[in-house]
Amino acid sequence: MNHTKLLIIGSGPAGYTAAIYAGRANLNPVLLEGFQPGGQLTITTEVENFPGWPDGVDANELMDNIRKQAERFGTQMLPNACTKVNLDIRPFGVTLDDGNEWTADSIIIATGASAKYLGLSDEQKYMGQGVSACATCDGFFYRKKVVAVVGGGDTACEEASYLAGLASKVYLIVRKPFLRASKIMQERVFNNEKIEVLFETNTLGLYGENGVEGAHLVFRKGESDERKYDLPIDGFFLAIGHHPNSELFTPWLKTDENGFILTEGDSPKTNVPGVYAAGDVADPKYRQAVIAAASGAKAAMEAEKYLAQ
Ligand code: NDP
Repeated sequence: MNHTKLLIIGSGPAGYTAAIYAGRANLNPVLLEGFQPGGQLTITTEVENFPGWPDGVDANELMDNIRKQAERFGTQMLPNACTKVNLDIRPFGVTLDDGNEWTADSIIIATGASAKYLGLSDEQKYMGQGVSACATCDGFFYRKKVVAVVGGGDTACEEASYLAGLASKVYLIVRKPFLRASKIMQERVFNNEKIEVLFETNTLGLYGENGVEGAHLVFRKGESDERKYDLPIDGFFLAIGHHPNSELFTPWLKTDENGFILTEGDSPKTNVPGVYAAGDVADPKYRQAVIAAASGAKAAMEAEKYLAQ
């Protein structure tokens, strides 16, 4: 059995930043890097909106740098994921995917969220070559191009509106005959002449020689009216929701109806003292690296206070 004062679970901007702050506070944190070291950012290409890089930075380089900074202050990185936790006992109990058991006086959960995909094999095929689940991250590469956004919720409307500021044309592909988004977001979409909503439409696949050049769509109205057609596009954005990676903790922690961990007001405190949630696992709204990093810093500062008591 191994023990640490502070265990950080997750290696995105929230986890690594928590480690920098905790390391500088001499807490010698242990950080579980999980299945995707570096987190969601590592599936994008360039990051242009992280402060400090006026010319943008490669996403992997950015995460590597934050990781090195955390290591410099004494974080022990483990290339493992956590498979089981017990928040009933003190210190808390954690089991890793290699079978090793750890106890921790305090835990920062920074396990992130995963964008939902339609499940088409073409999404994998064209990942980073026309397929994206983050308009804020990748929209800039589609200036004056034609893109499609899938989804009918607030995220889809927000992403479509954002992309309309860059692209020459945005199709919003909605499977139902109506949008689920809030009225204000719907109005923004309907009033934007660059956005065309394709209701009752589903995506069957994507095509293209060098990256995405179009989507195979099907319009369905009832059982008799079905029409398949191809829509030329340069970019295909998924906005059908995110699921927070919070399942391991939900027996103990309060979440919202979508599984995002609820924290106390503006702080990363969960309903279990000594357990903090930082980054996208507790953020259904902003989902930005810089915001995740900031919440990781807050979590480490709160953990330091808790451990000193
Ligand atoms: P939602 O779950 O609200 O919407 C998901 C959308 O994707 C729905 O239109 C859904 O269709 C569609 N969808 C889901 N699966 C598929 C599929 N397989 N094929 C096609 N379409 C699919 O997720 P959001 O990310 O939009 O929002 C999450 C939460 O965050 C919401 O509470 C939202 O209000 C909030 N939010 C708030 C914002 C703001 O206030 N500015 C900005 C962004 C999000 P269907 O309707 O048919 O189920």
